[in-house]
Amino acid sequence: MTFTHYESLHCLECDEHHTFPSGILLYAPAETGAKPSYRDWNWATVLTNRIWCFQCEGPSYTERIPSQREFDLAFKFRSDPDLPRPDNLEDELLDIDDEQFHFLRKHLKGRHQNNICIYCGSGSVRFLQTAMNRVVNFKHPLCGGILQFDHIFSNGYGEKTIRWFSGQGEFIGEQIDHF
Ligand SMILES: [Zn+2]
Ligand SMILES: [Zn+2]
Repeated sequence: MTFTHYESLHCLECDEHHTFPSGILLYAPAETGAKPSYRDWNWATVLTNRIWCFQCEGPSYTERIPSQREFDLAFKFRSDPDLPRPDNLEDELLDIDDEQFHFLRKHLKGRHQNNICIYCGSGSVRFLQTAMNRVVNFKHPLCGGILQFDHIFSNGYGEKTIRWFSGQGEFIGEQIDHF
């Protein structure tokens, strides 16, 4: 059994729901020559930022590319579990497992944060900031209402769409798997 995690925005004014794209976003290993496969377990999850994409006309993601400094800082805290973490430091880089961390650190080296929708490639996007599950820096374009952020979890076996990217952020291809 696996579980899938969807994110969505719900407009408190007009009641419209917008679901974030639900595909699984993975970085493939560099230059193995073979087609990447989920079951090789040689990949890392793409870290993401939430955006509103004006091209997709809905919520979407950009890659989140941590800076060298963020990687170094996370490495410091990961190497020494006794080191007290600052209260406000919530970071996926601290929570992912070692293999994923080293994969990302190696494959994203030298890259910089971009503001491009990972699904359509448009740069016409707005980064969404949330507080208490409300989007605080952006209103629903259709009606000006407040957008509430929701997590939806669904359990069970099913078809999953995996979108593969190179370490340079290029879309390589899609894989459909069932798990
Ligand atoms: Zn609305
Ligand atoms: Zn888009």
